[in-house]
Amino acid sequence: MSSNRVIIVGAGPVGLVAAAYLAGEGIPVTVLEAQKDVAIDLRGSTFHPPTLDFLDRFGITSKLIEQGLIAPHWQFRDRKQGAVATFDLATLAGDTNHPYRLQCEQWKLTRLLRERLDANPDTSILYGLRALGVEQTADEAIVTAEREDGSIEKFAARYVIGTDGARSNIRKAIGVAFEGITHPELYLTLSTTFPFEDHIPELAKIAYISDPDEWLVLLRTPTLWRVLFPTDPKVADEVLLSPDLVEARLQAVVPSPRRYDIEHKTAYRVFERICDRYVSGRVILAGDAAHLNNPLGGMGMNGGIHDAMNLGEKLTQVWRGADPALLGRYERQRRKVAVETVQAQSVRNRQIMNTRDPAERQTYYDELKRTAADREKTRAYLLKSSMIQSLRDLEGVT
Ligand SMILES: Cc1cc2nc3c(=O)[nH]c(=O)nc-3n(C[C@H](O)[C@H](O)[C@H](O)COP(=O)(O)OP(=O)(O)OC[C@H]3O[C@@H](n4cnc5c(N)ncnc54)[C@H](O)[C@@H]3O)c2cc1C
Repeated sequence: MSSNRVIIVGAGPVGLVAAAYLAGEGIPVTVLEAQKDVAIDLRGSTFHPPTLDFLDRFGITSKLIEQGLIAPHWQFRDRKQGAVATFDLATLAGDTNHPYRLQCEQWKLTRLLRERLDANPDTSILYGLRALGVEQTADEAIVTAEREDGSIEKFAARYVIGTDGARSNIRKAIGVAFEGITHPELYLTLSTTFPFEDHIPELAKIAYISDPDEWLVLLRTPTLWRVLFPTDPKVADEVLLSPDLVEARLQAVVPSPRRYDIEHKTAYRVFERICDRYVSGRVILAGDAAHLNNPLGGMGMNGGIHDAMNLGEKLTQVWRGADPALLGRYERQRRKVAVETVQAQSVRNRQIMNTRDPAERQTYYDELKRTAADREKTRAYLLKSSMIQSLRDLEGVT
């Protein structure tokens, strides 16, 4: 295989968006994926407006919309008092072609991107190859990968993009620091067909529900409601995920004479971490490999896709002869967003959901109500929470 190509390690949403961008510019791409297929798992399920605008470039936004659920509003609630403020994303009609959030599982995106890449003769996705590390010479970067049978293969490329997720081997191989914190609580996600909308008045499809004792998030997907709770990490997984405990927690949200049906349940650790560098010579990080945040606000996958689009544009220019120093601008721009938008907002969202001080809680509710009642304030607020503002601010980062 010629080394005149880009190797992308990891066929998650971020790796495949980067692959689709570069392939669309005529750049040969090989994707190495550790698993035997692209993942079908219940992780990201919210697409923000600018992400849908970006994905239009690949002609797949309308297909995602067909498979998803449009959420025109999102809501902040108090668990005891009910709706505090509901935000209408139509306020962004002049700012985006998609003034809503799309609730759609991320695996539907990876499937659509894979179909598109499979149709391109200059692109290949190689499955069952786990990258172990990467080395660089002046002219190329060489990824060492292991097959399931233990055999080792090497792949050389002009550039390597590490989109191999939270435990990235590519990140470890280039030795960048990945500092940050681990949240004290676990997050428990339960998915059920129970119709919460019939039992909770004025419930939007996305609801952040604050409470001093136990906050939660309710997210509607096309077929299920997903319920996210913070959870004590000292409780063993088998207890935490036991049918009786799961049932008791859902009964406490809405009592039901019938047992809740649980289609999916998972508990996971949450981190806030950002790499100190995204670019190391010919090796570049993007997505979860470069930054991790809590899922409140749905910014992890969206931010990673924005990384991939920004990187795709700059790497295309470098491929065609621009100074490789341009990749430094990718790092400066996207790292700033990870620190100042994604992490700052995710941490703030968690603090608000968590606060036990009644005065602080009330002050926040009053501020939200004032924002929702004023069109210009709503627009400014939604530009930020929908990640549009973070993209506009990038122009100022040289
Ligand atoms: C419960 C939950 C809910 C979430 N909800 C949202 C949401 O609503 N909105 C949002 O924006 N984000 C959300 N996120 C975050 C989102 O899922 C991630 O940010 C997103 O998946 C990151 O994409 P990625 O492509 O960077 O990494 P991944 O999706 O982790 O993909 C990495 C890929 O690399 C492969 N891989 C790993 N190691 C290797 C290796 N050594 N060699 C080769 N391949 C390798 C993996 O198999 C995988 O296919 C959520 C996360 C969780 C856990």
